[in-house]
Amino acid sequence: MEKRITVLSGDGIGPEIVNEAVKVLDRTAAKFGHRFAYTPALLGGAAIDAAGVPLPDETLGACREADAVLLGAVGGPKWDMVDKSIRPETGLLALRAGMGLYANLRPSRMFRQLRESSPLRADIVEKGIDFVVVRELTGGIYFGKHETTERNGEKVATDVLSYSEHEIERIVRVAFDIAKKRRGKVTSVDKANVLDSSRLWREVAERTAKDYPDVSFSNMLVDNTAMQIVRDPSQFDVVVTENMFGDILTDEASMVAGSIGMIPSASLGDGKNGLYEPIHGSAPDIAGKNLANPIGTILAAAMMLRYSFDMEAEAKAIEDAVERALDEGYRTGDIAAAGGKRVSCSEMGDAVAAKI
Ligand code: NAD
Repeated sequence: MEKRITVLSGDGIGPEIVNEAVKVLDRTAAKFGHRFAYTPALLGGAAIDAAGVPLPDETLGACREADAVLLGAVGGPKWDMVDKSIRPETGLLALRAGMGLYANLRPSRMFRQLRESSPLRADIVEKGIDFVVVRELTGGIYFGKHETTERNGEKVATDVLSYSEHEIERIVRVAFDIAKKRRGKVTSVDKANVLDSSRLWREVAERTAKDYPDVSFSNMLVDNTAMQIVRDPSQFDVVVTENMFGDILTDEASMVAGSIGMIPSASLGDGKNGLYEPIHGSAPDIAGKNLANPIGTILAAAMMLRYSFDMEAEAKAIEDAVERALDEGYRTGDIAAAGGKRVSCSEMGDAVAAKI
């Protein structure tokens, strides 16, 4: 197969980690007889420096036309003081909106080799942590009306949380489609005991679940979910929820699985094209030193193969290669324990690529 990938290296450690992901993609393409063509484009601080805006029109065009987009990270102290409308992160939000990406997938997976880096007790981690949170990305309270008014001599602030049936149904379908490729279990998270928006969420989720008789389905209140993620995360396979609940639960979920440098994410819309990136930022403190952990970005590339290209065996080959590199003791500084092989960003990329 031939696929076109737009590559947004971004700022800070972005170019270093993206290089390693491309190295692993090239090795995978060679092994499986595919051809990946890469189009580099500017986003974030690099784009502000070159074009005065964080998301140039050519970048958005190149992303829309691609089969998938691979991103490093954006931002850094150099651009902290620029006007909010042209901040690097504004470019990222505009890119997600411009590509119509409404579903954010964040896997929470504990690598058994890194068990000691989870803050959870050993007996909890022992049962395994391997679930995906599917978060609605373009609706809910972050996109509702926000206003601060005055009443009886004091300020009153209001944020509106609203969801329509079609917004709920499309994200719930994303969760079911992913569950079919995993262990076949969806947990829909809401606050239906209090919120109307959550009661509608639950009604639509239950109705949609009927179209997926092979996937087991249950509802869970968000407060209970927050508790269950630390009590017994092994019970979850795919968790689907609205924007703000997902924002909070994904941070909790990534923390229980260990280092920030290990976790990928994907943002998807109606088509096959998606945006794939690690969850961390541009790590200015270690940028340019060949110290960053490229595994989050390499695993984001694996998600790209699975969700945008339907290349399940290829995605699995990358994930297995990461496992084997960890088995052999390769560790970047952020995940190094006493006695392991401490390697650079490029050496970790080489180690993973060699194991495909
Ligand atoms: P960060 O994620 O960049 O870094 C937090 C800490 O984790 C740092 O100590 C860093 O060295 C370490 N770290 C992060 N990724 C690592 C990796 N792959 N390997 C090893 N160590 C790693 O968060 P921050 O310092 O709060 O933000 C830095 C910049 O990144 C800011 O400008 C912020 O706005 C931006 N940011 C961008 C994104 C994105 O592009 N999606 C996300 C978050 C933050």
